[in-house]
Amino acid sequence: MVMRTAGRRMEAGRFDAFRLAERGEILTGELDVAALARAADRLASAERPATLAWTIEGGQDGLGRPMLTLTVRGSLPLVCQRCLQPCDVAVDQRSELLIAHDEVELKRLDADEREVVLASSPLDVRTLIEDELLLSLPYAPMHSAAECAPAASTGREGMQPGQALPFKRSPR
Ligand SMILES: [Zn+2]
Repeated sequence: MVMRTAGRRMEAGRFDAFRLAERGEILTGELDVAALARAADRLASAERPATLAWTIEGGQDGLGRPMLTLTVRGSLPLVCQRCLQPCDVAVDQRSELLIAHDEVELKRLDADEREVVLASSPLDVRTLIEDELLLSLPYAPMHSAAECAPAASTGREGMQPGQALPFKRSPR
């Protein structure tokens, strides 16, 4: 896609999805994932910056239905499920969402096997981006074999259940 950086900067707040779609406008911003209640749980450390860049572009699908195209890009420190150390995972998510005026339309569009979001009232940027991010995060992030801290020194695979995560610091 051609770089279109003329999007309107927006860090948080709500927007009218149908107006954005009708006008083909773009919103852009950055989001600190550590400040998102649900996604923050996935981070290896709350102290490391975890900023993602996002865009929300309004438009229409091939049938002329209003839709939003979301992109979320950056890198997040997640927990490697093999060595339990922080593991930087690239995020490069692009999703297309149809927007529905009401529940009836939501059900109808949903039957079409498309992602649909109810936009009867203005949508919250952070909730929308967080929802997409949670869908895109790997269920079991892992280092590549070469980067993963060797578990060989302990002579066993992984760690025991309930063992404290070695990188967790004391609570705030
Ligand atoms: Zn690892």
